[in-house]
Amino acid sequence: MEDHSHCFARPEAREACGVFGIYGPGEDVSRLTYFGLFALQHRGQESAGIVVSDGKKFAWHREMGLVYQAFDESTLSRLQGDLAIGHTRYSTTGSSTLANAQPLVAEWKGGSIALAHNGNLVNALHLRAELEAKGEHFEATSDSEVMLRMVVRAANRTGDVPAALEECMKRWRGAYSLTVLTEKAAIALRDPYGVRPLCIGRLNGKAICFASESCALAVIGADFVRDVKPGEMVIAGADGLESRQVETSPRHALCVFEYIYMARPDSVIEGRLCYEARRGLGHQLAQDSPTAADVVIPVPATGWPAAIGYAERSGLPFGEGLIRNWYVPRTFIQPDQRLRELGVRVKLSPLREALKGKRVVMVDDSIVRGTTKRGVIRLIREAGAREVHVRISAPPYRWPCYYGVDTSNRSELIAARYSKVEDIRREIGADSLAYQSLEGLLEGIGVPRRKLCLACFTGRYPIPIPRDVKLSKLDLEERACRRTPARTRK
Ligand code: AMP
Ligand code: SF4
Repeated sequence: MEDHSHCFARPEAREACGVFGIYGPGEDVSRLTYFGLFALQHRGQESAGIVVSDGKKFAWHREMGLVYQAFDESTLSRLQGDLAIGHTRYSTTGSSTLANAQPLVAEWKGGSIALAHNGNLVNALHLRAELEAKGEHFEATSDSEVMLRMVVRAANRTGDVPAALEECMKRWRGAYSLTVLTEKAAIALRDPYGVRPLCIGRLNGKAICFASESCALAVIGADFVRDVKPGEMVIAGADGLESRQVETSPRHALCVFEYIYMARPDSVIEGRLCYEARRGLGHQLAQDSPTAADVVIPVPATGWPAAIGYAERSGLPFGEGLIRNWYVPRTFIQPDQRLRELGVRVKLSPLREALKGKRVVMVDDSIVRGTTKRGVIRLIREAGAREVHVRISAPPYRWPCYYGVDTSNRSELIAARYSKVEDIRREIGADSLAYQSLEGLLEGIGVPRRKLCLACFTGRYPIPIPRDVKLSKLDLEERACRRTPARTRK
């Protein structure tokens, strides 16, 4: 059979990046953006960038690596201005190049424009082909470049960047939370489904900031004002803050994974503190999937609040059984399987005294490929634990994400490969395994179902995925199956 996988390799998936923006005449905007990005580091560790405007022209710096590696005193002091945007980028296979680092910068007939994107357009391939047919050449492989080129073209026609963005929002399909910079304005906008978070803050009563998560506002001492509404564009400039409701959608679809894993626990999204959502998931799990045990331990760090919740509700003692090396980035971003397996031991060490002879409940937020779980369970057993009962605060992750979380192909998801929990239990080597139910997830998080995207658990995608894009994340067997008429499928 013909393999089309290479056709879908471009533009590559965008992931849970972090975006920031500030309009703050008189403030040290580059340093504030730097600290904002620092707080958003968990959303992207591949590259970081800041673009500033002094009202007339841009200055920028983009570099591979963590925020503190990308910037030093001299690069920051070169970035003088009154307004800025910044970006931290998440890594994905084969795309660690500076050409993909953001914010992206381009010229239009009225000046310069910079764009920082979190999310993933599902119609990027189509839009890119359209632009290429018009003679556009692309430097990078990201959908964000497609977005920027579209904005430049529209701005050249309309003579106005906000008007151009409005025009583009009508054509973009998928997930996008953007910060955009012109010489005189910092702009934030969010797709009509509001898949990725984005919020507004105010600093010293005057400066206006935008950030993927509220934790970035807190770190610079800004007050949280509100979330950017789905389909809304907000413009911060000399006239203050202007809001335009550009697009509407039949429903909102905030990524539920932000509450489960992605966002920092101290961030508030749509009025819900992520820490509390995760603790609520632990309560729910303990209620629905109790077990006899001696101690409840988290897989640090994302499993922590749910493990605390599990211990609280079950009455079992909470303990630390795994010590994390904080200098290792999230295991998931290691590009190949061999490195991922090694990564578990590099990142986590068992506390023998706490585990020896114990019946352990190990709580974590999710199972994606199952590799980490298998490695961690082995570590706990080697440390002398008598039993290892795994409790997962999310339901089985069965469907790939097309809206900005890179989980690669469906065939790599352990819950897609095995439909029975018992088979997954055996595969990861646990004594028992229980996932959160979908109802438990909603109850624990405490956000209404109609506001959330749950597609990686249900396979029901709120924003339609073009057929060719959908096929790109299915394995060969499934692609063949999808190409045959529905009635012949299993
Ligand atoms: P595994 O047991 O190998 O499936 O690894 C799952 C772990 O990866 C979870 O404990 C999460 O902390 C983390 N994780 C879940 N989703 C993602 C994601 N999209 N990107 C990076 N890490 C993730
Ligand atoms: Fe989030 Fe899953 Fe929806 Fe992707 S498919 S946006 S990870 S809930």
